Amino acid sequence: MSLDSLYQEVILDHYKNPHNYGTLPGAPLIHQENPSCGDQIDLQLIVGADQRIQAIKFTGQGCAISRASASMMTQVVEGKTVDEARHLIAEFQQMLMNDAAIPDELGDLEALRGVRQFPVRVKCATLAWHALQALLPDHTPDAEPG
Ligand code: ZN
Repeated sequence: MSLDSLYQEVILDHYKNPHNYGTLPGAPLIHQENPSCGDQIDLQLIVGADQRIQAIKFTGQGCAISRASASMMTQVVEGKTVDEARHLIAEFQQMLMNDAAIPDELGDLEALRGVRQFPVRVKCATLAWHALQALLPDHTPDAEPG
């Protein structure tokens, strides 16, 4: 597999026209960087009283992989609960680590699977997801089993 085939059409599409690109004034913000590539992201999130992600937006600079991953990530987690978002983070990370079947709910994110063969690029693909993980509110005590 060549590096070129990493840049599938769906990735270039999200790179050129990222979804949920912008800011949410007043919402919590986290800044994350991937120094090995120079990618940067500012991610903002609004979680409702029902623990659902009401809005999520990002800005930043970076390569096609990091930006497309951020765009697709915001698309897939918008409207999900915090717990569902955590589950999606785990599934995405699994997708980049092994050959297990890709869950349908990851949708277009499947296009990023090719980065597995390029460890430096994995950091690009996971940057937005690390930001999301850091920004999600902690579990409420009654959500813990036991
Ligand atoms: Zn990058």
